[in-house]
Amino acid sequence: YVNDSREAVNVFRLQDHVRRLLQSMTILRLHTAFAAADLELAVVELLGATPWHEDIYLRLLAFEGYDVVGAWPTDARANILINAVPRPSTMGTGRTKSCCVSSWRRISDESMPPRVKASANYLNSRNAYLQAAADGYDDAIMLNQTGHVAECTGACVFVVRDGALITPPVTESILESITRATLIQLVKEELGVDPVQRPIDRTELYIADEIFVSGTGGGEVTPVTSVDRYQVGSGEIGPMTEKIQSLYRDAVRGLAPRRSEWL
Ligand code: PMP
Repeated sequence: YVNDSREAVNVFRLQDHVRRLLQSMTILRLHTAFAAADLELAVVELLGATPWHEDIYLRLLAFEGYDVVGAWPTDARANILINAVPRPSTMGTGRTKSCCVSSWRRISDESMPPRVKASANYLNSRNAYLQAAADGYDDAIMLNQTGHVAECTGACVFVVRDGALITPPVTESILESITRATLIQLVKEELGVDPVQRPIDRTELYIADEIFVSGTGGGEVTPVTSVDRYQVGSGEIGPMTEKIQSLYRDAVRGLAPRRSEWL
């Protein structure tokens, strides 16, 4: 994110993103010669090579096979590609989403672990997203194998009911999202609200006071104004979502001195 004066770029929670990449690679038995510090430095060097005055989406992609023929992994070292593309933040633009509950189920830890941030997992999100788009929705919320709310196609789900902020735990077939962890901490420490991590039923979405989805590239903190055409709350951004969006915006833009360790 560029800072408020658009003179500097801060990478948000770089160490946490790199750690998650390396953990995903561990689960996949994908070997690398790079240490976390090497990857963090490479990101900073890449950004330093160009003068940036806008928000940027960074992607670190580990892949095997450049010098390997055949479908199955060997003990070859994975290559890592890093790219940076301009991508303006949508926070504060008034962006909202209409969602459906997808008939595609979220993948599970028994087959394609959602905790692994693997490109292959996105076929599941893609199916759900394209069906939602064909049916006239902006996005889809997927249920897990037990029928509970898992996550959106590229973001986690938060629900507000009677003043409580609720989100599924990380064992409900979701990506271990860095935005989710950030928001849980911010809400606790800044609003004095202890978010509840518990399974969420589909029908709770239909009577929620507020719903938002959250993710780094997946819309940051985006209000969901309807689910399966049931209007959520007032049909506009709710008061809790608005507060959380502004806490997140201040943290990523470098406007929250208490959160400088994330930059
Ligand atoms: N769930 C899925 C399926 C995602 O693709 C993403 C985006 N990476 C998220 C959740 C949010 O994760 P994060 O906050 O770490 O970006």
